[in-house]
Amino acid sequence: MPQSQPKFVILDRDGVVNLDSDQFIKTPDEWVPIAGSLEAIAMLNQAGYRIVIASNQSGIGRGLFEMSALNAMHEKMYKALAALGGRVEAVFFCPHTAADNCDCRKPKSGLYEQIGERFGVELRNVATVGDSLRDLEAGVAVGCVPHLVRTGKGLRTLDKGGLPAGTRVHDDLAAFARWLVAEGTHKTPAPTAHAAQPAP
Ligand SMILES: [Mg+2]
Ligand SMILES: [Zn+2]
Repeated sequence: MPQSQPKFVILDRDGVVNLDSDQFIKTPDEWVPIAGSLEAIAMLNQAGYRIVIASNQSGIGRGLFEMSALNAMHEKMYKALAALGGRVEAVFFCPHTAADNCDCRKPKSGLYEQIGERFGVELRNVATVGDSLRDLEAGVAVGCVPHLVRTGKGLRTLDKGGLPAGTRVHDDLAAFARWLVAEGTHKTPAPTAHAAQPAP
């Protein structure tokens, strides 16, 4: 039943895991983790969460960098994570530009749907973390719980307002991870309470 459902967290990449740039992140050298973000992923793994990234990468559609560069960035991320005992299951990305009018570019929910299908997981109540409104909107469309971080474009996003109902705000991914792990501990039902629930 729900208890055995694997725990997932879906993250945006730029501005959440690594430093963002208005000039796009185009090379592995430009891919620089935000302080504490990789440790946060390892901490979530330790607490039983599987981490998946959903990322708009229109730089590909714009011809700013190739797939090989994107793969190299992710190799760098996977290696740095492995050194900390952390792991990201997969990076789902949209290579399109807004003009392509695809189904996967956030705020559309295509990437999230792909994740749900790939892992056979129900996304309702899965936490999703982003620094832009469109990250949260894409997640909320499939029932995810929205979390905004103040890193990346987060402060700008906060200023603009209009966040989905129930959005929680954290300083950064590390603060989110500490919050989620503490929250998960509180939520673990005591065996007696569970046994006392009436049968449906
Ligand atoms: Mg972002
Ligand atoms: Zn797309």
